[in-house]
Amino acid sequence: MRIDAGREPKYLPDQTAPVIMTRKDYSKNLMPFLADLEPDEAGPDLMDVSRRYEIPQERIAVLSLNENPYGPSPSVWEALKDVPPNRYPDSRPFLEALSNYTGYPKENIVAGAGMDEVIITLVRLFLGPGDKALIPVPTYNLYGLAAGLCGARPCYRQRRPRFEVEPKVPDEIKMIFLCTPNNPTGNLLSEESARAIAESTKGIVFLDEAYVEFAKKDLLKLVRDYDNIVVGRTLSKAFGLAGLRLGYAVAPEWIAEQYRRIAPLFSISSLSLAAGVAALKDKEYMKESVGKIIGERERMRKMIEAFPSEGNFLYIQTVERSSLVAERLLCQGIIVNSCSIFPGAGDHCLRVSVGTPEQNDRFLDAYAPGWRAPKS
Ligand code: PMP
Repeated sequence: MRIDAGREPKYLPDQTAPVIMTRKDYSKNLMPFLADLEPDEAGPDLMDVSRRYEIPQERIAVLSLNENPYGPSPSVWEALKDVPPNRYPDSRPFLEALSNYTGYPKENIVAGAGMDEVIITLVRLFLGPGDKALIPVPTYNLYGLAAGLCGARPCYRQRRPRFEVEPKVPDEIKMIFLCTPNNPTGNLLSEESARAIAESTKGIVFLDEAYVEFAKKDLLKLVRDYDNIVVGRTLSKAFGLAGLRLGYAVAPEWIAEQYRRIAPLFSISSLSLAAGVAALKDKEYMKESVGKIIGERERMRKMIEAFPSEGNFLYIQTVERSSLVAERLLCQGIIVNSCSIFPGAGDHCLRVSVGTPEQNDRFLDAYAPGWRAPKS
């Protein structure tokens, strides 16, 4: 129906007089819980920033999305050449490659167009109107949105000192979301806490390991030990494929089976699948780029007072309001995240992604004036 059709008189089937239907009438069909949702923001528009601050677009340092500045393995470009665009995608070789990478059989693995899609699909298995999902904050924003999309209620609980998670889960919780390393704070969830949480709840525990390749430890083995733990992963970060949208989860077989029943069959494009297979094969390349990022992360951390981080980003407490600091950096063509967008983070924290050494130097110069790179 045309967007302005609501202004035209029309006859409904059981009426003889024309009624004027407006957008307001049609909008009554919207799900009521939509009113409580805060949509995610994609961040500033580069063209706009470039115009406003007279900075060439290629000079703008995007340090707000935790992307990998080095991009994927060169073998990805080769793999893309052979993809037949007239055929529907076949995800089996990708699942096979994930099975090799994770050490889990294919029966335990599900994939989606980014981990975001995996999360949104997974919550539909477990959450409905009135259900409760526990979300220790600050953390990744999508969990609350995904729960809200099913009409469920996100229960935000502030993390303890050093951003640790309270291991007791209230009885009525159906799902709990734990990010490790946590976005935006960068700390890991200990294996002990993860086990205590899985054992203290009848709900499903989602462990988000989007940044795990940058960390010292992972919790993937817990999927073997618990029937209520799912581990989410992505190729957006360490593998440098954020634009191609590849996410997956390692789940107990009973959950993976249910997931496949409702997941869209062809949501990952053939190009993305081929790229994913090639990237997963070249682990050496991935480890090299992760090594460079970790080196830069630690270098930056010594220069500024950031919290220890196991991700490809740093979490920094600011004296001034973080939105002011972020705005000042933006004027210099450096985009970072003011964490006021994360529930529970307050108004005085920034998250900055680790970029190339040159981008990081620019950030350090702008954030901590007076700092100069040592002459090599
Ligand atoms: N989990 C966390 C913690 C993230 O930060 C992100 C993306 N920033 C995702 C999941 C989603 O990743 P993807 O790009 O695979 O959708």
